[in-house]
Amino acid sequence: MRKINVITLGCSKNTVDSEHIMARLAAAGYEVVNDSDRTDAQVVVINTCGFIADAKQESIEMILRAAEAKKAGKIEELFVFGCLSQRYADELRKEIPEVDEYFGARSWDGILERLNVKNKSELITDRRLTTPDHYAYLKIGEGCNWMCGYCAIPLIRGHHVSVPMEQIEEEARKLAERGVRELIVIAQDSTYYGMDLYGERKLGELLRRLCRIEGIRWIRLHYAYPAGFPDDVIQAMAEEPKICKYLDIPFQHISDSQLKAMRRRHTKAEAYALIERLRRAIPDLALRTTLMVGYPGETESDFEELIQFVKDVKFDRLGVFTYSEEEGTYSARELSDDIPQEIKDGRAARIMTLQREISLENNRRHVGNVEQVIIDSRQGDFYVGRTQYDSPDVDEEILIPADRRRLMKGHFYKARITSAADYDLYAEVLEHIR
Ligand code: SF4
Repeated sequence: MRKINVITLGCSKNTVDSEHIMARLAAAGYEVVNDSDRTDAQVVVINTCGFIADAKQESIEMILRAAEAKKAGKIEELFVFGCLSQRYADELRKEIPEVDEYFGARSWDGILERLNVKNKSELITDRRLTTPDHYAYLKIGEGCNWMCGYCAIPLIRGHHVSVPMEQIEEEARKLAERGVRELIVIAQDSTYYGMDLYGERKLGELLRRLCRIEGIRWIRLHYAYPAGFPDDVIQAMAEEPKICKYLDIPFQHISDSQLKAMRRRHTKAEAYALIERLRRAIPDLALRTTLMVGYPGETESDFEELIQFVKDVKFDRLGVFTYSEEEGTYSARELSDDIPQEIKDGRAARIMTLQREISLENNRRHVGNVEQVIIDSRQGDFYVGRTQYDSPDVDEEILIPADRRRLMKGHFYKARITSAADYDLYAEVLEHIR
């Protein structure tokens, strides 16, 4: 049995792609591992990220490490796919010829062909999970039609393509049958789901159908786009107890001149109105967002509007990026990267300093509350868990002293929040829910 190491870099969408290819390889009798710390296996497959400079660098370094291992005879075959390969296959072929073949972001079935593995349609909803067994990402679409000024994703992943609803349901059911309790719904823009396939937005219907799957306890929504946010999604989130009161919705900026220059298809007023609509329907909604500073033309007053936005909304979770020019994008072609890096970094730091205060203030409001907590792991003196308001890897953690009772990974417990820190909460367990 040949051993294949599938190494995944980049975002949760890459994780799902790797899990699909791993399931096919395992079904064909390969011993499949997923270990980015090792580059020794008969076959190594690297799923790359090509989104921004740092991610590209990380992918190139991983390919070079594997190429060295191949030259040293530790690897027989080396394949690369994903976003970096989609964008720069020709350059990579010249620079790192040790790689047997480079494949695009959506053409990883070429790797199966090279390994004489039949791409069986009946395996289309099979996954070999690389996340902890109790949660899984559920990719409902690929690509994006929005063409935001700074973003290379439509150039890499192409137009939005929705996965048929029945296929998503079957994949989710299979995940539930093997013990997954939490589904994290992802796409480049989850709210656009169905527009291509059904001619209308179908995310609300999809979420309700996923709620019917036995065994699934939490359904979490990531990557929503503000413009045209569907009312039936808000309704489903308000009415369905399985849908986490949590929404990841990147706003990027708020000043109308920056939103226009970024080609974001909504205005400042519409963003505020959407947040007001969401919070009226779902009062305890945890909002996660991503902001970008230093985009071409961002004035001090644009930035002050952004600071005011953060103060007004008091997001529960917030990340900030500094603009970096990506070749082929509208901003790289038409605008000049005119904000000095130290200004960009300074603005990002100001936002995160403000957000730390807001996060502590928000967290203090949770003290005394009794919440459902799922246990992800044990780290030293604490069990680490999450409430419905926290997504894995990106959000806060609930820390539960481990000296009181033994807790089970992937199990739910009723817990009282006992104290708050800026980015974590402490809790005590009251009851094992299962
Ligand atoms: S919606 Fe997101 S993925 Fe699509 S172009 Fe804009 S930033 Fe990129």
